[in-house]
Amino acid sequence: MSVSPRAGECRVSMSNRNPSHEASSRNQAVDLACLGIAILNRDEILACNPRFQEIAGFDGAEGRLEPFLQWIAPAYREPFLLHLEALLQGDLMRVGFELGGGPVGAGRLFLGDAQRILFAAGFPAVHLTLKDLGSLAVLQSRSTEDDGPQVKVHHDDRLAVLGSMAAGIAHELNQPLNTIRVVTDGLLFGRSEGWLLDQEELFEDLEMISRQVVRMDKVIQTVRNFARGERGRADESVHVNVAVENVLTMIGRQIEAHGIRLEKDLDPELPPIRAILNELEQVVMNLIVNARQALDECARPRKILRIRTGSRDGTVFIEVSDNGPGIAEPLLERIFDPFFTTKEVGQGTGLGLSISQSIVRNLGGRIDAANNGNGGATFVIHVPAAGEET
Ligand code: ADP
Repeated sequence: MSVSPRAGECRVSMSNRNPSHEASSRNQAVDLACLGIAILNRDEILACNPRFQEIAGFDGAEGRLEPFLQWIAPAYREPFLLHLEALLQGDLMRVGFELGGGPVGAGRLFLGDAQRILFAAGFPAVHLTLKDLGSLAVLQSRSTEDDGPQVKVHHDDRLAVLGSMAAGIAHELNQPLNTIRVVTDGLLFGRSEGWLLDQEELFEDLEMISRQVVRMDKVIQTVRNFARGERGRADESVHVNVAVENVLTMIGRQIEAHGIRLEKDLDPELPPIRAILNELEQVVMNLIVNARQALDECARPRKILRIRTGSRDGTVFIEVSDNGPGIAEPLLERIFDPFFTTKEVGQGTGLGLSISQSIVRNLGGRIDAANNGNGGATFVIHVPAAGEET
């Protein structure tokens, strides 16, 4: 489905390159800031959006990968093929890179992000996004002129998630900042009025300021670690409660500011799992942001978001539940499809659950989704405890 763009927005729809791939035929319109998006395997472009066709100069009928490989500038082709193979083999889950491409002499530099996904009947495929950074020639000449690494780009694949978290982070920082403002303004007002300052009170105020600074520092560190991301094999020993707490450090206050009661029931006795903390945080973040958005849509007087962790039979679970509108039954089987979204442009990309599912499957686990009996939806992440993997 193609939808006409609003001012300043690039709204794209995936075009189906291979009708046998059911998931792609159900793709809905998404807004991904003019990114070229394609789903690839070793030989084919299984699906791509019109922006990708435009970037790579396809006529719309092309489904083979080879012409795209020829389009990639020679210096970038080999590394790209290595990434592709590693992702398809499962040696790499996600990778960011630069990619030069285009007709000779008119090449452009792209910021690439490639991620392993399970496509249609569970076949591994690679989800590729390309962001146009500009003309290769111009970027290279600028980098020589300035002696600076102008072409060097920080490929941060978490920027999209960070974008949706920005309001939450602002909330987290706002409260301690306000406290500091109230305390310091009080002291300055006192001085302008000529009040005698009690030393004990002054130190209490300084301690209060120091505590707020520590709190802000924690938020900033958590966001920084999340943004930095980690790639590679999922062989870290991770405590799921740490992932949940880190996510709540980043967006917990925002949830409360939306009038939502956050109920937390974390089992302190959980065994660790083998995972990459950052990726697990990304999955938990997606589920919590989805629940918050669902609750924002409904007019319920008591909005509740519950997070529960626990373990049974060698499996650790994280359950995120809300009492929002729930998921229409016919859509339940589609919500994990890449690009499936029921949200407005700018609100959803339709990638959150498909990426989350792919991350969790790579840990040997799964995500279940269901409607609650009394309204709302529950998502449960199940992951084998460390040492329990098959
Ligand atoms: P996005 O959030 O960008 O739409 P997702 O893949 O995360 O993409 O979610 C796909 C769809 O699943 C959403 O558009 C929404 O229709 C549905 N969904 C996900 N979580 C919930 C929830 N907690 N309540 C209701 N619907 C949900």
